[in-house]
Amino acid sequence: MFDSLSERLSGVFDSLTGRGALSEKDVDAALREIRVALLEADVALPAVKDFTSKVREKAIGEDVIRSVSPGQQVIKIVHDGLVDLLGGEGEPEGLNLTGEPPVAILMAGLQGSGKTTTTAKLAKRISEREKKKVLVASLDTRRPAAMEQLAQMAEKASVACLPIVKGQSAVEIAKRAMSAGRLQGYDVVILDTAGRTSIDEEMMGEAARIADVARPRETLLVADSLTGQDAVETAKRFDERLKLTGLVLTRMDGDGRGGAALSMRWVTGLPIKFLGVSEKVDGLDAFDAKRLAGRILGRGDIVSLVEKAAAEVDHEKAERLAKKMAKGKFDLEDMADQLRQLQKMGGISGMMGFLPGMNKAAKAQMANAGFDDTALKRQEAIILSMTREERAKPDLLKASRKRRIAMGAGVAVPEVNKLLKMHRQMADMMKKMGKKGKKGGMPGMPG
Ligand code: GDP
Repeated sequence: MFDSLSERLSGVFDSLTGRGALSEKDVDAALREIRVALLEADVALPAVKDFTSKVREKAIGEDVIRSVSPGQQVIKIVHDGLVDLLGGEGEPEGLNLTGEPPVAILMAGLQGSGKTTTTAKLAKRISEREKKKVLVASLDTRRPAAMEQLAQMAEKASVACLPIVKGQSAVEIAKRAMSAGRLQGYDVVILDTAGRTSIDEEMMGEAARIADVARPRETLLVADSLTGQDAVETAKRFDERLKLTGLVLTRMDGDGRGGAALSMRWVTGLPIKFLGVSEKVDGLDAFDAKRLAGRILGRGDIVSLVEKAAAEVDHEKAERLAKKMAKGKFDLEDMADQLRQLQKMGGISGMMGFLPGMNKAAKAQMANAGFDDTALKRQEAIILSMTREERAKPDLLKASRKRRIAMGAGVAVPEVNKLLKMHRQMADMMKKMGKKGKKGGMPGMPG
């Protein structure tokens, strides 16, 4: 479904061929194209604006990693932006089915959105993957065919369907479903509410009354991704009345422009939980922002290439630094580099892993010496306020220079002293460790 969008986007990046830091001009040119591509894909305008401004902020001035091209690097940044837009990285949010059984799931949506099909798909998924006993029930009293359809699909999915009783209201059926669930030991009851061709007050009122009776743990809106902005608008309207807990986007196998998926999460703030990817009863995928972003961009190869290159650069730098430190050659430039590295690697322990013989006591000593993560940025600022020469030869730093540096970094002189002391301690410690390392060899290796 995302072919056209991904083609357009990949064309944008091929024109970025410069070297060095990403320039404002390059990034803006790319972003103009990206904006058009997203709007053409029917992504909501506010989402597009938010997306492009975030990407711009991230991309401009970013150092280009040596082994990749600027275009490749921008692809990675755009990819990460898409992942954010879709709800962020991390485990896709599953269903919350905890609590006293039977737990109810309410399915809402417009007629033709794929609600009934999704009800059966979901029932199959929960019964197979979570080994739960699932009952489905159709509350569509106006369309007997819809009830019949659910019964047939449930059979295909090998899950139980509440027997049809003519003449009951939707609320009565909901009550009957919940009590059948209780009496017959079902874990989960999925209620397929009536859909309409458009949102109206009666439908909303009915759905709200059903929710009162069933007290659903999950209320999922099923929306047809092919309807683009309309699907987004529908989600907003439903959420105002029903307190939705999540979204299911159907027909993601179709040839729509894909914008619905990209706007939906941004506009409603609701997690997309599943994607419908075929008419078949097993055509339901758990939503995965990273996977979808990869599909939209169509450049998954490049994204992983840049990720790998970035990781290697970090790793090499840290290792080089660790070696230098072990030899006792460790000037303030190295220290600044290290402070940056530490911030990137999530604190001191990440980097220490590269040093042989770094034990708990040594780590504690580092912490005492002032290496807490909140101070890192300030310490880096102090070093950045020094001249190159001062960084290489800390002995040059007499009182007047220290005052100048403290001013430049916006700190007091004692803090500069503290940093210098910390540097001396570290250099000492590294020297000692380097010697020990030589004698004892690498841990785990015969000396
Ligand atoms: P309802 O009126 O909301 O209950 O919609 P239905 O469940 O009856 O679905 C309407 C049509 O869409 C049916 O022909 C389904 O087979 C089809 N459908 C539902 N979900 C998907 C999907 O994810 N992909 C495709 N290709 N078709 C779907």
